[in-house]
Amino acid sequence: MITGSMLYDLVQCPHRPTMDIHADPKKKNEISAFVKLLWEKGNLHETAIMEGLTIPFLDLSGHDGETREKLTADAMSRGETLIFGGRISAGDLLGDPDLLRKENDGYIAGDIKSGVGLEGSSEDLQKPKVHYGVQVALYTDILEQKGISPSRIAFIWDVNGDELIYDLNAPLGKRKKESLWDEYQSALNLARQIAETANTTLPANSSVCKLCHWYSACQENVRSTDDLTLISELGRSKRDVMMGQISSVNQLAGCDINDFFDGKKTVFRGIGQGTLEKMKLRAGLLCQKDASPVQTGDIVIPNSETELFFDIEVDPFNDICYLHGFTIRKNQDPATEEYIAFFSDSLNPDEEKKVFSEAYKFIKECQPCAMYYYSKYERTIWRKLQEKYPDVCSADDIEAIFDPSFAIDLYYDVVKSSTEWPTNDYSLKTLAKFLGFKWRDTEPSGAASIEWFNQYCETQDPAIKERILEYNEDDCRATAILLDGIKGFIK
Ligand code: SF4
Repeated sequence: MITGSMLYDLVQCPHRPTMDIHADPKKKNEISAFVKLLWEKGNLHETAIMEGLTIPFLDLSGHDGETREKLTADAMSRGETLIFGGRISAGDLLGDPDLLRKENDGYIAGDIKSGVGLEGSSEDLQKPKVHYGVQVALYTDILEQKGISPSRIAFIWDVNGDELIYDLNAPLGKRKKESLWDEYQSALNLARQIAETANTTLPANSSVCKLCHWYSACQENVRSTDDLTLISELGRSKRDVMMGQISSVNQLAGCDINDFFDGKKTVFRGIGQGTLEKMKLRAGLLCQKDASPVQTGDIVIPNSETELFFDIEVDPFNDICYLHGFTIRKNQDPATEEYIAFFSDSLNPDEEKKVFSEAYKFIKECQPCAMYYYSKYERTIWRKLQEKYPDVCSADDIEAIFDPSFAIDLYYDVVKSSTEWPTNDYSLKTLAKFLGFKWRDTEPSGAASIEWFNQYCETQDPAIKERILEYNEDDCRATAILLDGIKGFIK
């Protein structure tokens, strides 16, 4: 049977349903504590929403599959207004919509999500999430086949308590004519092919893999085939376009790319000359024994007596920035490094405000200094914190803190724009490890830190707090190691 959750997974990674249906379950990794936390938070959110509802509803969530399906059918023929936890099916489609709501002469389907219901940068560009959309489209398809769908409209109740209407027939954007229904049809067709044969999709090396239970199995596969996605930022879609003519990292490294130019364009749809040249350079570095990183553009590093290496930790489940960590260093001497942390001991917004304010004052006291961080996350979160707590400092104060003449985003301003590395991605973890740095924790990751913080909030166990601080300190120190590594090869 094709289910909503199968389509949800397929939108994130087409190979995931292939593995779930056809691979040896013994090859699965253990489910990570972070993924378990995601599930738990999702269930808690769903329960809280339904318990807080002031309108009556029929709760079928406690029944097993077949009974639920029969009770759902009975409830819909009786004309129940709102059904929670029902089950519906038609042909090879099986749906578990969180909600079925009576509208006009039929039912529309909805899901309760612990994430926001729309994605996109600014309000006028926001659009439905495709992975949510394909799920509710499957429920709508089943209702249509049963002759009880009044329209191709579904809905999401999101983390903010908002109801977002998903018009399944509407184009997904000004430039994108396809609708969610089109996306659903493509996903459904691929899911049916996958269900029939195991050889429909390929694994890829991508950021979503790290939380997937097939991580080890897929990594083994992409490494044994020297898959093109081992090249940083090449990705599944470029790989799929290229692989008819170039199928491995080694092949790309050894080819003459002029063979793939057609005038000013390349023969690969959607891949420009500059991108192809960059990917070939990266392939060459990966294939070269003992390769070193190279400089490809101008790099300006401020010469400052005081340097700060800054890293924050944020818990998206509780919408709280719980840690601002800094390594401070004098005269570029690693022996002077000292770690300073501003840690929120609870989920209380007053505590979040207090540590934000302390961290802000700390930076001000350190100035003049050069401050280094990795990617735009710190600046984005500080802008949000300022909006949340405007009496700590002004929006102009935040822009002054992140003035690029002395606040350097090492990822965007240096690594991405002006260097190339013999590594499979350009994350801080990968680059600092390449330079010989070791995290003290055996499972260092931002996701793990969020899980530890949730444990700490429940237990107040000082050992867990220590683990969080140690991990953050190592991230700050890794940023310093990366800066020094870059200084070692810039001309
Ligand atoms: S490990 Fe990656 S490629 Fe493999 S199934 Fe999971 S997300 Fe897909």
